[in-house]
Amino acid sequence: MANFSHSNNKKGKVYVLDTSAIIGRFLSSDSANITTNGVIKEIKDFNSRIFTEDALEDGRLEVREPEQWAIKRVQSIMETSGDILRLSEVDMEILALAVTLTESYEPILVTDDYSIQNLSKILKILYRSVLTQGIEEVYRWILICQGCKKQYPPQYKGEDCEICGSKLFKRRIKGS
Ligand SMILES: [Zn+2]
Repeated sequence: MANFSHSNNKKGKVYVLDTSAIIGRFLSSDSANITTNGVIKEIKDFNSRIFTEDALEDGRLEVREPEQWAIKRVQSIMETSGDILRLSEVDMEILALAVTLTESYEPILVTDDYSIQNLSKILKILYRSVLTQGIEEVYRWILICQGCKKQYPPQYKGEDCEICGSKLFKRRIKGS
């Protein structure tokens, strides 16, 4: 049984990425991002493969495999919940990886798959969807000059920099 007890020693947060998370280009910059080999094999489109290979190479994405006890636990819950028909082997493994990681971390499963989210709930694994960053982290836009990098507020009306005349582009920044 995984340890969910709360203590003052807060466990480090890790993100567990399923295929939809990688295709949605999810990568946390403040916590580890972990996936399975099965997920990586599922990534077929060229741009997503490049994204995955880059992330693996520079260590932003790591590969781990679930442990047997966690696989058994997920399989038995899949059988009783009726989700067994909707979930693939790869889906089961990513859930089992999240369960495995509860031993040492606070894993957050990143997925847009409703069945995986449903199972996460039953397994008491935290989850979030890929495209709802706005819920957890507030982002806003600023305008930045391509030339001198001067920043402008999003409501700035001009298209060009008042200092150097270069084009301005939008950048998403993390708010507080
Ligand atoms: Zn400028």
